[in-house]
Amino acid sequence: MAGTVHRLVLAGGLLLMATLTQVARAGDLQVGKIYHGFKLLEHRPVKEISADAYLFEHVASGARLLKLASADDNKTFCISFKTLPQDDTGVPHILEHSVLGGSRKFPVKSPFDILAKGSLNTFLNAMTSADFTMYPVASRNRKDFVNLMNVYLDAVFHPRIYQDKRIFLQEGWRLELAQPDGELAYNGIVYNEMKGAFSSPARVLDFIVSRALFPDNTYGHSSGGYPDNIPQLSYEKFLEFHRTYYHPSNSYITIYGDGDVLQELKFIDENYLAEFKRQPPVPELRQQAAFDKIKEVSDHYPIGPEEDPSDKTFLELAFVAGGAGDQQLSMALDVLTDVLVNLPAAPLRRALQDAGIGHDVYASYDELKQGVIGIVVKNANAGDRDRFRDIVFNTLRRVVTEGIDKKDIEGVINRKEFMLREADYGGFPKGLVYTYFSLRSWMFAGDPLPALAYDKSLAYVRRALHEPLLEGMVRKYLLDNKHAVLAVVEPQQGLEQQRLAGLRQKLREMKKKLPAAEIARLVKQTADLRVWQSTPDRPEDVAKIPMLGIADLDPQAESFPLEQRQVKGVPVLFAPQSTNGIIYLRLLFDARVVPQEMVWLLPVLAHVWGQMDTANYDYGRLNTELNIHTGGLSLSLSLFPDSRQPENFQPKLEARAKALTPKFAKLVELEREVLLRTRLTDDQRLKEVLGELYSRLQGMVRSAGSYLAYQRAASYLGSRGMYGEVTSGLSYFKQVDKLFRHYSRDSGQLAADLQMLAGLLFSRRGLLLAVTCSEEDYPVFEKHIGTLLAALGDDPPRLQEFKLAPEARNEGLLAPSKVQYVYRSADFRALGYQFRGRMQVLRQILSRDYLTREIRIKGGAYGAWASFSRDGLATLASYRDPNLRKTFTAFDGAAAYLQGFSASDAEMTRYIIGTIARLDQPRTPAGKGEAAVSYHLRHVSQQQRQAERTEILATRQEDIRDMAKLVEDILKHAVLCVYGSEKVLRENKQLFERLVRVLH
Ligand SMILES: [Zn+2]
Repeated sequence: MAGTVHRLVLAGGLLLMATLTQVARAGDLQVGKIYHGFKLLEHRPVKEISADAYLFEHVASGARLLKLASADDNKTFCISFKTLPQDDTGVPHILEHSVLGGSRKFPVKSPFDILAKGSLNTFLNAMTSADFTMYPVASRNRKDFVNLMNVYLDAVFHPRIYQDKRIFLQEGWRLELAQPDGELAYNGIVYNEMKGAFSSPARVLDFIVSRALFPDNTYGHSSGGYPDNIPQLSYEKFLEFHRTYYHPSNSYITIYGDGDVLQELKFIDENYLAEFKRQPPVPELRQQAAFDKIKEVSDHYPIGPEEDPSDKTFLELAFVAGGAGDQQLSMALDVLTDVLVNLPAAPLRRALQDAGIGHDVYASYDELKQGVIGIVVKNANAGDRDRFRDIVFNTLRRVVTEGIDKKDIEGVINRKEFMLREADYGGFPKGLVYTYFSLRSWMFAGDPLPALAYDKSLAYVRRALHEPLLEGMVRKYLLDNKHAVLAVVEPQQGLEQQRLAGLRQKLREMKKKLPAAEIARLVKQTADLRVWQSTPDRPEDVAKIPMLGIADLDPQAESFPLEQRQVKGVPVLFAPQSTNGIIYLRLLFDARVVPQEMVWLLPVLAHVWGQMDTANYDYGRLNTELNIHTGGLSLSLSLFPDSRQPENFQPKLEARAKALTPKFAKLVELEREVLLRTRLTDDQRLKEVLGELYSRLQGMVRSAGSYLAYQRAASYLGSRGMYGEVTSGLSYFKQVDKLFRHYSRDSGQLAADLQMLAGLLFSRRGLLLAVTCSEEDYPVFEKHIGTLLAALGDDPPRLQEFKLAPEARNEGLLAPSKVQYVYRSADFRALGYQFRGRMQVLRQILSRDYLTREIRIKGGAYGAWASFSRDGLATLASYRDPNLRKTFTAFDGAAAYLQGFSASDAEMTRYIIGTIARLDQPRTPAGKGEAAVSYHLRHVSQQQRQAERTEILATRQEDIRDMAKLVEDILKHAVLCVYGSEKVLRENKQLFERLVRVLH
């Protein structure tokens, strides 16, 4: 149970929001003593994260274990290994996938998929980074938590990869040959995943920069795998990598939450670690020696064969600086990137904008063992390279002489502190984030805690407010640092087609040289693999994966409290939550006042407001004030479809903001400034802001194919989908693209349009306030919000009709992409079906069983799923998919699969558990407030959600078979939208009514 909330005042001016909870004392553990084979090395409280840290070493095996005991019931377990690749074959990544493909105690094809089907996990995944691989799981249920831990430990220490090479062929890479006279092709899940990843220029940039900065150590290699190099990985090398790195002596285990530490230690020792002996440490990560001269490198990324290459070059200056283990320096360098580049009026951003180089710039600090500061310019031209370098260095020299604005520094530090203390990591369990924060310092400096006990680093970086701390760093780590690289990644028309043709040619020649016996072997391997993938696991093996029973599930749907109140005549939706003294405020303005032909300007307005000068502040100062006093303010557009009548949807322009209670009055003042006193008179500035938006959207169109195809398919089906597409999909991008290209001609028009929209929108009539905070903080909101409400317009709103007629266009979206995203969607309400709880179980079965097997496992796509939304949208989709036609056929087979569906009681239970787990993902206090508001606006009652849950819990296999008809109807009426490779889409053009280029 949480204890009292204490608020302490910090020297820096921000309130400390540590909830000093009664942490479950882990008995009377004594440093130096041994518990279940683990010696307690150290025990200290980490008040910043309300936890008690216990650092252990397993005496026999050398495994390290950090227990973070806290009151949080979202328990997290993670085992990580230092993994240092020596080439670009992606061996750590392929291994990360493969060890989850069956193990000693769990000899099934994918224990991971079975856990994903049916456990109460709140997180289940594995990740490969540049120098480590981590296996995190989380659950709020004790029994489930132990089960997950059990499967993951068995997977990493006893995987079946040694007994079964097919796992490597499936997850990594293989040569496929369907028949002796067919074409050879590469396939494999990681192979396709990385082909998708390397379609993005940012990824290419990252790769060449790392390679240039670290020619002699592991950071010069891609741990994920470079597609051309993946096929160089042999099975033997793959196994050798496991032998070297996946040993307890090289492991780092973290356990977070309210579990019993002694039981956890006992379990791990008895079941896993006791059988291992210490192994010598893995070779140290070699330190890369610095250079005496800045390097220069370049490469290309693919754009469409007719796409205009101008303004599409990426430039980067990257410097090796700092590194894991010096937490104070890391925090300072992180702050430095924000004040130099990321703030809207940061000196480097300003200088590059003034010089007309690129449309967007960002900087980041990557905390590796040897850290990297990167400054990236997007949408520039190759000819800008030398000017880019000169401007960066000249500006940095000026910054050192003139000093950095102290207010800017204060703002950045305050915002960082706010985020750290709020600890709202969205869907990620805190235990996972804390593990991630601590790993490198633990691995490379022997202490996991500095990043968690962050007060010390904050105090250190606050010295920058009184002394030239950051200016000194600019000189040392940027100006005088020759361990750096200047990189250029240029677009190249048709590069993808050339590469594809080159690969085909190479494979043809390879085939010519293959002896007949080898051809026969490949044909057989291809067929055998297919048979193996299609053969279900033996039920007695599946039963070995531990699971809960229906009785372990909570029959009650979680309720999200919401009260309807009023302030000065404006309705308030109040979600009472304990938020550690933060008030989360949303102003929801009715966007139905905007005429249909202008709705696409709503997200433009949302982007522009807050980035321009206002009556009392220039935009730089405005941003700094927001940083100093608040946790952030942003505008966005949201749609709330009525669940009873989805075409009846409410578009809302939202202003979201948050601040600590004592700063709430200031927040209201700043919000008023942004909403009502924004000035659009500075033409040049408006163009820059638009340029940033354009650049980000272009990046989205290039890399978020899945999102675009989804939006586009939904737009064929109804006006809500149309609205979504026009305001966030490809149509929206095309409008912004046009606006930006013709800006000099239409600049006055844009400013006038936006001001007109603001006048329509920012009215107290039709406004809805949503606030999430504690009951005791509510009066603070009530007291101060009045000044803003009084300043808003008061005209009665004139609601406009939105009635764009949808049209099933079945488009192929041509993109410079190596993989496809295939979407088939239908409106099942229009086909006479209602949304039901059991559809969620159907979703789980289709996604986790049928589609995963057919499209991911057999097809080699990175992912595939089905979904059924409350609003009537049914979707079947694939992600980073090498196929198109095959996937299409697999979708078509879904109805037949359901007709013949049969499952044991245990399997059905598993699916139900997995369905409930998705519904019960833990939410932060702010997230609970949002859920409450969303259900309210969409007219989803608690009774309705309860009835759905009850139906889910009672779903039987007959119910699933009954829904075969639903899926058959959906497929019969489904529209199609595919984003993908121009070549593949053209080869299948008869599937489409139209082919559309996404970029020109
Ligand atoms: Zn992967």
